[in-house]
Amino acid sequence: MTDETTRYPRSQAAFAKAKGAIPGGVNSPVRAFRAVGGEPLFFAHGEGAYVWDIDGHRYVDYMLSWGPLIAGHAHPEVVQAVQEQAAKGTSFGAPTQIETELAETIKAIFPSMDLVRMVNSGTEATMSALRLARAYTERTKIVKFAGCYHGHADSLLIRAGSGVATLGLPDSPGVPGDVAAQTLTVPYNDIAALRTVFTSYGDDIAGVIVEPVAGNMGMVLPEEGFLHTLRELTREYGALLIFDEVMTGFRVALGGAQEHFGITPDLTTLGKVIGGGLPVGAYGGRRDIMAMVAPLGPVYQAGTLSGNPLAMAAGLATLRLIRAPGVYERFHELGKALTGGLAALAKRMNVPLQTAQLGSMFGVFFAEQPVRDYESAQKANNERYRRYFHAMLEAGVYLAPSQLESGFLATAHGHEEIEKTLEAAERAFRML
Ligand SMILES: *Cc1c(COP(=O)(O)O)cnc(C)c1O
Repeated sequence: MTDETTRYPRSQAAFAKAKGAIPGGVNSPVRAFRAVGGEPLFFAHGEGAYVWDIDGHRYVDYMLSWGPLIAGHAHPEVVQAVQEQAAKGTSFGAPTQIETELAETIKAIFPSMDLVRMVNSGTEATMSALRLARAYTERTKIVKFAGCYHGHADSLLIRAGSGVATLGLPDSPGVPGDVAAQTLTVPYNDIAALRTVFTSYGDDIAGVIVEPVAGNMGMVLPEEGFLHTLRELTREYGALLIFDEVMTGFRVALGGAQEHFGITPDLTTLGKVIGGGLPVGAYGGRRDIMAMVAPLGPVYQAGTLSGNPLAMAAGLATLRLIRAPGVYERFHELGKALTGGLAALAKRMNVPLQTAQLGSMFGVFFAEQPVRDYESAQKANNERYRRYFHAMLEAGVYLAPSQLESGFLATAHGHEEIEKTLEAAERAFRML
């Protein structure tokens, strides 16, 4: 990467310095560029659909902080909401009305969530939902799908997709074997395997957790019947269905995948977009299940900064922006223009490419065959993605630094950015 040393001197120096104080120089592993090679860029600021690195280069940003920034960077209304709240106090550890306001907004958008508990990250949300499912059903086993990521709680760090996969760690050391043994893993989109697991362990299964559109092994859509079968089987066996919509919520549709596919899960986990760029997660669902959460019920779960007013303010301002008429029609149109454009270029230039898109979420795989699960996602050509990623970076387009991730649109993206991206992709494909 000799180019990089000359092109990004400040980022390079900043990374060297960071490595002296932070493990691997980053506070979340995928940021380290291990999957694409080279060294991470340090960002200075963002505005709308664009970010600037500390060497002064500007990028169209499709990573958007891994999804939260659906209104783009530093949207004036989000900034104002945070500033006004900060001036009144940043945290109280006592109830504030803005928490109810955000919970009510979420309930209005996700009718399956009768009660909503705020936490500080997606990881906390899924971890808490599992505890609740186990308490409610008085069972221990959890079913998850290979390649789905649900945060880094012990029970869920099993065949967990992107971050873990690109580091080549099948599971993480430090997760006790007897904890891991309670998690059963099934290939995504594999209805037959799912039935087998229920036939063998049905009475011990507390819940099934799923990314209803997978986004952490690259973007993989659920095939016809997959989610419906999941709903039927969990109902039949008395297990809870947990939709992890930390990524898909407010992204594939305003009301997430459950709205798009018309399926009502028992519990839902949210994160990313609901914090508008500040740290927030939430879980919620059926009233009789949520009634078990303390202090209403015996299942303990707490947080010093949960429902933090700054985060609530950023989340509320963000949800207000995306509830405006026409937002999702526009996401759909831009998403189609982007993935349709990439697919057409690839076809014309004989580059094997698979694309997926729903709402403001999209993905590409450099693969010959359609990708339907983790196994096929892992067969995609990494070397091609690595070259594509760096070519796009040099052309001023920031993508996720791994093929096993999804891309995102913000309300700030427009046709101008899509055109610029397609021009860059044409040059990048030529270099493959
Ligand atoms: C990002 C993500 C999580 C974890 O959220 P964090 O806020 O990073 O802890 C969980 N589930 C899904 C589907 C995610 O995309």
